[in-house]
Amino acid sequence: MKAVMKTRPGPGLEIVDAPIPEVGPHDVLIKVIKNSICGTDVHIYTWDEWAASRIKPPLIFGHEFVGEVVEIGKEVKAVNPGDYVSAETHIYCGHCYLCRTGNPHVCLNLKILGVDTNGAFAEYVKVPEQNVWKTDRTIPPEVAALQEPFGNAVYTALVEDITARTVAVFGGGPIGLMSVAVAKASGAAKVFLIEPYEFRLSLGEKMGADRLINPSKENPIEVILDETGGLGVDVVLEMSGAEAAIQQMFKIIRNEGRISLLGIPHKKISIDFAENIIFKGIRIYGITGRRIFHTWYQTTAFLASGKVDLTPIITHQLKIDEIEKGMQLLIKKEAAKIVMEF
Ligand SMILES: [Zn+2]
Ligand SMILES: [Zn+2]
Repeated sequence: MKAVMKTRPGPGLEIVDAPIPEVGPHDVLIKVIKNSICGTDVHIYTWDEWAASRIKPPLIFGHEFVGEVVEIGKEVKAVNPGDYVSAETHIYCGHCYLCRTGNPHVCLNLKILGVDTNGAFAEYVKVPEQNVWKTDRTIPPEVAALQEPFGNAVYTALVEDITARTVAVFGGGPIGLMSVAVAKASGAAKVFLIEPYEFRLSLGEKMGADRLINPSKENPIEVILDETGGLGVDVVLEMSGAEAAIQQMFKIIRNEGRISLLGIPHKKISIDFAENIIFKGIRIYGITGRRIFHTWYQTTAFLASGKVDLTPIITHQLKIDEIEKGMQLLIKKEAAKIVMEF
């Protein structure tokens, strides 16, 4: 089969002819219909510090996809050939403390599809049955391929109630843009989007943001305090990982507010715990992955009902052979979500 592979340590990728994965007793083999490029894939492509420490080539990467089941293992019970499926990419062990207490997204033996195991930039991908998500047929493939990152946005936004709250989203990358739509669909009172790239801000407007702030033109702290009567926002969704944003968010979160952190900083950041967290009485959530499978039911509800439309952020649809072009567009921040097909 055709597959996108990191064949050796270092930047780049190769399109290779790889064997179709062999299905174990609990596995499901899926023929990929569409997949999409994640920021994680860009890290693997450019071979940054994180990739160099984590990725063990040869590896077929990619993890965001939708496809159709073509083969099932002997012990597979609830998935059948022909099913239209996507997958939870956190492959959890099922027997550690966290798995057994309802938190498999932070499993102690976690493996990530397309990072630690061969992934979905291929004609076929193998996934354990427990990770398969049967997908509503009314969701078209280019949107269904985005369910996994959309789940990140849903979990970040809805880890606590957001209805009738004022919300500041820092970072207009794809998941930040999705979280704007989730907040609006969930009845948020006012959503601010803080993002320095005009192209992404314009997508934020399409996703329903009420107030767009370009921090190179306006001071986000002044704007948000002014527009919330000096109080600050009820909720911050930190999707950028940028130090400036992280320092600013503490200045615009109201006392007793909630912060959800999804953006990953590239280095250690120094924070004034006493002033920013303790005396403000705020709550901070670290968001990793999705609630398995609570979040997936919510993603389906949003997409199948039409309450959230992800099509504005699908800026490019490419053939798999054009994947390097897609990587370059993402590196230059000239794209949001890029969906590919074979
Ligand atoms: Zn991803
Ligand atoms: Zn586990």
